[in-house]
Amino acid sequence: MTAQALLRTLPPIMMQSVRRTYSLDVAAPLLRTQGYINGRWTSAASLFPVLDPATGQEIAQVSDCGPGEAKRAVDAAYEAFQSWKQFTAKERSVLLRKWYELMTQHKEDLAKLITFESGKPLAEALGEIGYSASFLEWFSEEARRVYGDVVPSPFKDRKMLLLKQPVGVAAVITPWNFPSAMITRKVAAALAAGCTVVIKPAEDTPLSALALAELAEQAGIPAGVVNVVPCSRENTPAVGQVLCTDPLVGKISFTGSTATGKVLLKMAADTVKKASMELGGHAPFIVFDSADLDLAVKGAMASKFRNSGQTCVCSNRFLVQSGVHDQFLQKVGEAMDRELRIGHGIEPTTTQGPLINPRAAEKVAHQISDAVSLGAKVLRGGSRLDGSYVEPTLLADVNTSMLCTREETFGPVMPVIRFDTEAEAVAIANASNVGLAGYFFSQDVSQIWRVAEALEVGMVGVNEGLLSCPEGAFGGYKQSGLGREGSKYGIEEYLEVKYMCFGGLVP
Ligand code: NAD
Repeated sequence: MTAQALLRTLPPIMMQSVRRTYSLDVAAPLLRTQGYINGRWTSAASLFPVLDPATGQEIAQVSDCGPGEAKRAVDAAYEAFQSWKQFTAKERSVLLRKWYELMTQHKEDLAKLITFESGKPLAEALGEIGYSASFLEWFSEEARRVYGDVVPSPFKDRKMLLLKQPVGVAAVITPWNFPSAMITRKVAAALAAGCTVVIKPAEDTPLSALALAELAEQAGIPAGVVNVVPCSRENTPAVGQVLCTDPLVGKISFTGSTATGKVLLKMAADTVKKASMELGGHAPFIVFDSADLDLAVKGAMASKFRNSGQTCVCSNRFLVQSGVHDQFLQKVGEAMDRELRIGHGIEPTTTQGPLINPRAAEKVAHQISDAVSLGAKVLRGGSRLDGSYVEPTLLADVNTSMLCTREETFGPVMPVIRFDTEAEAVAIANASNVGLAGYFFSQDVSQIWRVAEALEVGMVGVNEGLLSCPEGAFGGYKQSGLGREGSKYGIEEYLEVKYMCFGGLVP
């Protein structure tokens, strides 16, 4: 669809003008389209297209790696591991720091790649680059703090040590919603620990991954330590099979949907690989009567509409106590009118880009029509627009029989459920088989402690709608995953603990 056709289809209040065609003006060497294996840019037998989700136009053709390329990448990573693990922690730290500096230096171009391949507004894409680079910075520092333990021995003739060692080759499989940050959050920790990596980026967003590999090379990270095998949706299962079953791979680190995570875990079981899984969420956002309502509205806007609702920690279910329910709806509706502008992400005033593809838009539209058919009232938006756009939507009179309260939406829909008691809100919040993030707004200190402890989630925002930073531990309870990323725990996911017992000592 052309930009002009798009303009005709969008309601003038929500849509800023889309007047021109858009082209990605990032040049080589950051615009890479081949795989990166053992330090070489590598073509595959065929190509697959990368589309701008805002217009549907093709922005690049990328090498479609298959199982052969994946195996070569695993072998190269295994070979490189033999020397990378011998680097001192300080040497690895210096290289990660250099990579961080190069990302910062090229942040504008890297952000444009994100905007064009994922649809994310440019200001948010720049934010992602800062966030993504911060993991290289953080783990360049953590690399030098991998301590073991000297354990008090129960025997007079023996001394006991616990030593930390890298796991080996890590296979890194990432989603499209943070095309850069989901890679560095894993790869920086892996490299800091002394592991090497094979990255399979999402089929929708391979360009950011390849640009990261280019900068890793410029930073002086040796050949084979970082490998990238982009591939199409068609080749993904075969490439995934190699990464999850090859005995030379010691660790799978995945971010994506819970359904795919289970498939990968099953494949990895035969060779008993270590696994980190950052999976789907279904975050509750609770507003209690005691809340500072303006703060709650600010938190709701940030946690719902960032990346058009396409983050795993986006609030999915809004629970609002009776005493403030009507006022919250009014204020949040006004904030939506004031702050949300749909358009191409490269336009400076855009806050709401498209969803990643028409399939995603269809899923969100289906949730809206299901809610409406079961009695929900549309207070704002409610329509799917052409292409991959969906209007930011505010739904009232929502109940827990509706699809949007039972599954992750991954789109700009705010369904609001009214509740009366704290116990009722906590019960609704916890009635889910996933538990990634949760948010609540309250000024009652006792309630804050009670609810923060009661929520079955890995991350809690108390009077705060944005949680992510490298210092925090990112991860979920229940089927939201295994392990943690970032924080002092992130590097542990790539380390083994070796117990050494020195015997025969003369006391
Ligand atoms: P997805 O599971 O469809 O895809 C994620 C990645 O897995 C992609 O690279 C895809 O190509 C790959 N994949 C799919 N099948 C595979 C197979 N058989 N073998 C190997 N790789 C395979 O998820 P998505 O739609 O890209 O991402 C959205 C999901 O990710 C949401 O559920 C969201 O909550 C979750 N997510 C979680 C976090 C977190 O940290 N917990 C962060 C971002 C996104």
